[in-house]
Amino acid sequence: MPKYVYDFAEGNRFMADLLGGKGANLAEMSVMGLPVPPGFTITTEACRAYLATGAAPDGLAAEVSEHLHRLELSLGRKLGQVDEPLLVAVRSGARFSMPGMMDTVLDIGLTDDSVAGLAAWSGDERLAWDSYRRLVQMFGTTVLGVDAGYFAAALRDAKQAKGVDGDLGLDAGDLRALTARFKDIVREHAGREFPQDPREQLDLAIASVFSSWHTDRARTYRRAEHIPDDLGTAVNVCAMVFGNLGDDSGTGVAFTRDPATGAPGVYGDYLPNAQGEDVVAGIRNTLPLHRLADLQPRAYQQLMDIMRTLEGHYHDLCDIEFTIERRKLWMLQTRVGKRTAAAAFRIADALREEGLIDADEALRRVTGAQLAQLMFPRFGDTERAPIATGVAASPGAAVGEVVFDSATAVQRAEQGAAVILVRRETNPDDLDGLIHARGVLTSRGGKTSHAAVVARGLGRTCVCGAESLTIDTEARRFTTADGTIVAEGDVISVDGTAGAVYLGELDVVPSPVVDYFEGRRPADRDDLLRAVDRIVRHADRRGRLEVRANADTAEDAHRARLLGAKGIGLCRTEHMFLGDRRVLVERLILAADDAARKDALAALLPLQRADFTRILEEMDGLPVTIRLLDPPLHEFLPDRTQLTARVAVAKALGQGDTQEDLLRAVDRLHEQNPMLGTRGVRLGLVIPELYDLQVRAIAEAAVARVRAGGTPRAEIMIPLVGDARELEIVAGRARAVLASVAAESGVDVPHEIGTMIELPRAALTAGRIATTARFFSFGTNDLTQTVWGFSRDDVEGSFFPVYLAEGVFTASPFETIDREGVGTLIDIAVHEGRAARPDLELGVCGEHGGDPASIRFFHEVGLDYVSCSPFRVPVARLEAGRAAVGNTAVDSR
Ligand code: PEP
Ligand code: MG
Repeated sequence: MPKYVYDFAEGNRFMADLLGGKGANLAEMSVMGLPVPPGFTITTEACRAYLATGAAPDGLAAEVSEHLHRLELSLGRKLGQVDEPLLVAVRSGARFSMPGMMDTVLDIGLTDDSVAGLAAWSGDERLAWDSYRRLVQMFGTTVLGVDAGYFAAALRDAKQAKGVDGDLGLDAGDLRALTARFKDIVREHAGREFPQDPREQLDLAIASVFSSWHTDRARTYRRAEHIPDDLGTAVNVCAMVFGNLGDDSGTGVAFTRDPATGAPGVYGDYLPNAQGEDVVAGIRNTLPLHRLADLQPRAYQQLMDIMRTLEGHYHDLCDIEFTIERRKLWMLQTRVGKRTAAAAFRIADALREEGLIDADEALRRVTGAQLAQLMFPRFGDTERAPIATGVAASPGAAVGEVVFDSATAVQRAEQGAAVILVRRETNPDDLDGLIHARGVLTSRGGKTSHAAVVARGLGRTCVCGAESLTIDTEARRFTTADGTIVAEGDVISVDGTAGAVYLGELDVVPSPVVDYFEGRRPADRDDLLRAVDRIVRHADRRGRLEVRANADTAEDAHRARLLGAKGIGLCRTEHMFLGDRRVLVERLILAADDAARKDALAALLPLQRADFTRILEEMDGLPVTIRLLDPPLHEFLPDRTQLTARVAVAKALGQGDTQEDLLRAVDRLHEQNPMLGTRGVRLGLVIPELYDLQVRAIAEAAVARVRAGGTPRAEIMIPLVGDARELEIVAGRARAVLASVAAESGVDVPHEIGTMIELPRAALTAGRIATTARFFSFGTNDLTQTVWGFSRDDVEGSFFPVYLAEGVFTASPFETIDREGVGTLIDIAVHEGRAARPDLELGVCGEHGGDPASIRFFHEVGLDYVSCSPFRVPVARLEAGRAAVGNTAVDSR
């Protein structure tokens, strides 16, 4: 039978899975010899067993008895005994801190008999009755499920009857009467008496803490913090100590460093003559901790010594809760304290400088998510309520005037206005608008919708899937849930970090960390920048995964290089066919014969070549993976419904050019499921001249770079391959084009040809594909879409909230790699691919390439690089280093 109960002296801080964070650290402090009130911890395993069956597991009651007996022996008092009773606190404590989410019951052991014993021992009758009424109230609400409002109303009545404002105005007699009233409330609303058996109180309180794991608020908190639902909570049973025994008692919280800034020095608050929950409830103003030095010099000195000991022991910022009972200091809790992102970097670097931790450990102490937070501009504090909320798709803070289409976005931006592009959803046609906008707001789609992916790539702020908004592009306005109308030109503020939208202008604070990365601000004059610089450079030394960027333009490539990218892992080429060039694609699609098609292609060639030349120049000496055209061709043609209407009108008016040819082409290319239709390598087979053109443009750009003295390293990447034969055909033609450019130019064009692995079939047949491909790049966006059968453009806004609530997954698989499904396919492809071609280069270019948890997986599975949007490159560098040093540090969540 498992052991369900541990005395504090039996545990240690590394047992948090079993004892919860609080229990593990209470055990650690006990073993260190610090003054912890004696007690024991009931394990998370017992909680899981209780939650599975609805009853305490066999043997738990006997073990609790044994440990309770030991506790009673050590203190020489029995639980709830009539004279000088032992009272205990029953507190929840899960693996990860979930502040205030689960139950706590104090003063267990008080009964109609023992309340007099407490009065006699403490010499304070008021304290005794105040403790008893608190127990009945807390027990009644949390354990017996009585509505807290009844107790609050009775307390209010008591104060009114007495004509006092605060609880302190009630004397012992009033509190005795109030306790009786509270017991009546329990009888009326719980259908039972308040239990007079101390052990029954204890057992019910323990069961109630177990059950509180499943309250709505605890579930909601776990979902927000990505804490698994099946961990369960431990229960800590601990002898009560009293901070409310007069002016020589009190309670407080303290930090060994400032958790907001990371600055050294002790911070905290103290409340004389009070219990812990009084501090939280804010019923009286607390004193700054240093005032304790005057009030209780000895206890203060002891506290300072203990805090130094704790920081030296944990080698990290600790936060603590303490109580002073008649001048005696008791430690009620410690843990590695939560901190802001800036404090995390400063503290890690400071501890390394102080020699408490080494550089690897400093790297483990910070996260990519924290670095990302430091890189976003953000809004200052606001009292304003948002007009809408949606998916926080691309972080940052953007303020601008509302525009409803790309052309207006470009036009207003060129006139110097800051604009927010508002669309139901975006498509490749909106790229120009996205580039010119500060932020994007859509009412449909999730984190991998077009708007989200492109906005992240461009470093634009984006909130998408704000479904409460009704967007009327024709009328050029949107309406919020409460009927507020926002018209084109009105100013809004979009918070892409929180997923909120505000009317009007909020103040924006720019990020000094981005200025540092982009070389506009030196690191040596600011301790935060110095810390970031040292830690990220150490990550670069340790990381095995290389970090490349997804960049489609020379400007992006430039920025990516500044931010530390070691090449381009994905250069999407679709935008090179949009804007002014769209007419050329239209001509290509409409071409009646070979000659017309050749003409159209010839017009595109110099444009593409110029694009590639500039990108290769920016990334000179580094690999540039250029993906041949992927999207279905209809994306380059006008919208079918609008065109149908236009043609009908033109015909009715008898106009010359009715655009019927174009409509026929649009109809011909129309597909029910374009993402599963004629796209990717299939285009290369159906319209081979298109890929020929792109390969030629790449080859000629490389030749131009060689002639200019550069070192181009182009990699040609074929998308959406599902079978080796597809790749063989397309790669064969590409090699022929490369050979003819080499013959024409006399320059041996350096190149590699590889493929994306973004279909399950490609992963499963990777060995055959690798006989042709020199590299694989995992397209985890499409791979996730096809493995799950989830439309990446639709599902995040529709049923994902339900899936997250039901625990189907704790994070969207489009955001964090689904190790079990998608990850298994990647693993297969890595092994099959490397077996066929040992020097196969392996990378990932889906959105997951910039996600911290996914980067760890890519490291483990043995990829060579991750590729992500330029803005996320520093985060990926940090996480690549963290993956390499492993993460053994105590989790501080
Ligand atoms: C992918 O599918 O992961 C990918 C990178 O390609 P895209 O997002 O352009 O489909
Ligand atoms: Mg793809």
